[in-house]
Amino acid sequence: MPVTDDHSSDVVQASTAPFQLARQDLLCFFIREAGIDQYPAVVRLQRVIGSMRTYNQLVDYARETQRDGKPLLARSSVRLPLADLKIDFEVGRNLAYRVAWMQGAGLVPNYEASVAKMFGSELVQRLANVGVGILGLGGQLAPGSPWAPLEGSIETLYLSSAALTIAAGTSEVQRNIIASRGLGLPRD
Ligand SMILES: Cc1cc2nc3c(=O)[nH]c(=O)nc-3n(C[C@H](O)[C@H](O)[C@H](O)COP(=O)(O)OP(=O)(O)OC[C@H]3O[C@@H](n4cnc5c(N)ncnc54)[C@H](O)[C@@H]3O)c2cc1C
Repeated sequence: MPVTDDHSSDVVQASTAPFQLARQDLLCFFIREAGIDQYPAVVRLQRVIGSMRTYNQLVDYARETQRDGKPLLARSSVRLPLADLKIDFEVGRNLAYRVAWMQGAGLVPNYEASVAKMFGSELVQRLANVGVGILGLGGQLAPGSPWAPLEGSIETLYLSSAALTIAAGTSEVQRNIIASRGLGLPRD
């Protein structure tokens, strides 16, 4: 099932169906269809796509917020981590879509699901870290605070993302799966 590369849109187009599916609907479909191996990956796909919105908001914030007469984005300490994250999001999307594509093709993703899950979990944590760094002290303000930049979304992401590398299989266990099932390395 080809997926459009339209980052600004919140929909994907399925060439096999004469309609557009909201991304969340499509993800729910894959979650229902997924076996236990793929479940963590589809959950992480949901996370990666949801976090892309936060990432885009962060870029807008850095573009629009002035410090010393210049936008934050003019600083290399802001620009470079955001550029790295952009690369990571492209990689994360494609890793997750590979799992979905394999399911659609009747294949059984195995270590591929672990790759997508682990990368997506750690990507969201990197985003939260970069976000708190860019927003500074304001990044620690929770939703509801009138002074919280981006309505406190970075604070929430920072706190909630800690669990991502534990829930649905820890990153250590995912790495073990990739090593043994993906690379064929011995367990001991
Ligand atoms: C927010 C959250 C939501 C959750 N939701 C659900 C849910 O909906 N349903 C559900 O069933 N469970 C859920 N869990 C449980 C989750 O799946 C487990 O916490 C997770 O799989 C880790 O298992 P554990 O806690 O038993 O840790 P352990 O397996 O005891 O691991 C402890 C530590 O040892 C490491 N470790 C363990 N084995 C190895 C190994 N072989 N090699 C290297 N390192 C290893 C781990 O990486 C970890 O750092 C949730 C957990 C969290 C945090």
